[in-house]
Amino acid sequence: MTLTRQLVINEVVNNQQLCEVFLCAPQGGMRKSNRTNTLTLISDKTKLYDDKVVGDIYHYTGMGQIGDQKMSGQNLTLAESDINAVEVHFFEVMKPREYTYRGQVELAGEPYQGQQKDQDGRQRLVWIFPLSLKDSKAKFTKLPSARNDKLELEEEFNEIQQFENLPIQQTEKERLIKGRIGQGKFKKILLDRECKCALCGVTDPRVLIASHIKPWSTSTNEERLDVNNGLLLCPNHDALFDKHLISFDIQGKIVISQTLAETARVFLNIHEGLRVKLNKKQLGYMKEHYQKLN
Ligand SMILES: [Zn+2]
Repeated sequence: MTLTRQLVINEVVNNQQLCEVFLCAPQGGMRKSNRTNTLTLISDKTKLYDDKVVGDIYHYTGMGQIGDQKMSGQNLTLAESDINAVEVHFFEVMKPREYTYRGQVELAGEPYQGQQKDQDGRQRLVWIFPLSLKDSKAKFTKLPSARNDKLELEEEFNEIQQFENLPIQQTEKERLIKGRIGQGKFKKILLDRECKCALCGVTDPRVLIASHIKPWSTSTNEERLDVNNGLLLCPNHDALFDKHLISFDIQGKIVISQTLAETARVFLNIHEGLRVKLNKKQLGYMKEHYQKLN
């Protein structure tokens, strides 16, 4: 039996729809269906950090959450997928309950073993499957591991720190630093997480700006590297935030400077009803910003 319907690359479905198409179980990261002769792989970015994409190859971690993973069950089905005629379909979860279809995948090399921590934090052996997409138009989301992110960020920030020694005015330095942060790795990580301006619908990465909530100049090195100290905004909303003409209270509700005229509010697309979703850490950084509202 074939699939109950064909999915389009990048189509987003919920779990129930996914199960209806593949006639598979509603849980698990690797779901085998004998009825459709498929193996559905789910890469849940909201939970998983050890998978990585190198070039166009996705290094997918096999099944088994505790202890050493075994080459059996679904892992074996995937390892033999070049000879067992089971179709392997691939989904990515970027947000809870949203499954984005990336198309069919095939083994791009021999499965290999690696070391990863299990649920309880113990080192164990896992099986890793190099996979490539069959459709040349399809693409995996590149989401490097948290560890890689941190290394790259540190490198970038060391470079930015050099700006502080430049024989130029403080305001000029701050402008340089802000510009560099707003376009680099820090922004990339925020983009992967937020996708759009925290206040409006602007999604074009070319104009979105990543800023520190607590400014670079007063942050410790740790705070500078903390993505929770970041906010992704469109140019207008970034300018308002940067100049302390807007801020956010402990509920994430916008507070607007009394000095900002009504017409400016209209043209800059802000009003009292706006709110942003901030996690606890972001709120911690916001406190100081809030107190400096003009
Ligand atoms: Zn905006």
